[in-house]
Amino acid sequence: MTTSVAPPVAPPAAPFRFFDLAVLRTRRLGPTMLRVTFGGPGLDGFAAGGRDQSLSLFLPHPGQPEPVVPVDGDGDWFTAWRALPDDIRAVMRSYTVRARRRAPDGSTEIDIDFALHGDGGPACRWAAAAAPGDPLKALGPAVEDNTAVRFRPPRDTDWVLIWADETALPAAAAALEWLPAGTKARVWLEVQHTEDRQALNTAAKARITWLVRNEGAPAALEAVRAAELPEGTPYVWIAGESSQVRALRRHLVQERRFDRERVTFVGYWRRGLNEEQLREAAAADAGE
Ligand SMILES: Cc1cc2nc3c(=O)[nH]c(=O)nc-3n(C[C@H](O)[C@H](O)[C@H](O)COP(=O)(O)OP(=O)(O)OC[C@H]3O[C@@H](n4cnc5c(N)ncnc54)[C@H](O)[C@@H]3O)c2cc1C
Repeated sequence: MTTSVAPPVAPPAAPFRFFDLAVLRTRRLGPTMLRVTFGGPGLDGFAAGGRDQSLSLFLPHPGQPEPVVPVDGDGDWFTAWRALPDDIRAVMRSYTVRARRRAPDGSTEIDIDFALHGDGGPACRWAAAAAPGDPLKALGPAVEDNTAVRFRPPRDTDWVLIWADETALPAAAAALEWLPAGTKARVWLEVQHTEDRQALNTAAKARITWLVRNEGAPAALEAVRAAELPEGTPYVWIAGESSQVRALRRHLVQERRFDRERVTFVGYWRRGLNEEQLREAAAADAGE
């Protein structure tokens, strides 16, 4: 009798792991948006899939020299992180990798664009005060194809609909950069101030409407409801304040009869709830 021995298979790389980030510089993009560029040797091996690639940032409490995360962050980090005392464990917040590039010295740099908001939570406060050298930790992608990229138009997509408020503008801008040349796109981007609009780089055939709240722009639902949309099979990506996202999705699925499978929707924040409370509310909604 012969036995065959299966060739050794390399274990799959963990798709996410902790990275050490250091602030290199900050740049104001407009009254609301602040770009923080991170670098340092701790970013080696950081991969990003582009589009709406998200990551979890871990922020220090005021007075802590650096954020406290579990030492063995590659195992069940969430349980280990939750087990740390509230006032010690780092504050976790979700953000988007607006860009990743190789610096002239070969090191990795990433940009994260922070929407500064009046309710100033820990992330917003941290970003507003960020200075070169400040340390941060991130649970981020170690492989390019990972589940924290949600913008995934199916192959048979004829045109793309995007709505984003300022928190999802970095993701929408990166998605527009990624879209193949000539893709038809109808895009609504909502910001507070006229100066928050950004020059966007895309080869898509995108019709972009800026909804500037200070100029009295209509709400997302009103703007999209009034629009004449292209013919053909759509793919939808909508992200931003949860109640706006929900209202838009309901309109597209129930009134416009879009296939719900082709609608990617993500509540990035909810008015009156911080991110911990939003996570708890989402878990309760999902019946966990
Ligand atoms: C996948 C994903 C990707 C994201 N990417 C980005 C990104 O690239 N850039 C970005 O700026 N945000 C992004 N967000 C949103 C960001 O995580 C939230 O805005 C987060 O609440 C900010 O944390 P905080 O500590 O400043 O405020 P929190 O402590 O979470 O909240 C404090 C208070 O501020 C309110 N609040 C939170 N955000 C806003 C806002 N924008 N305007 C007005 N009030 C607000 C809350 O409702 C709460 O009342 C993303 C969210 C997700 C889920």
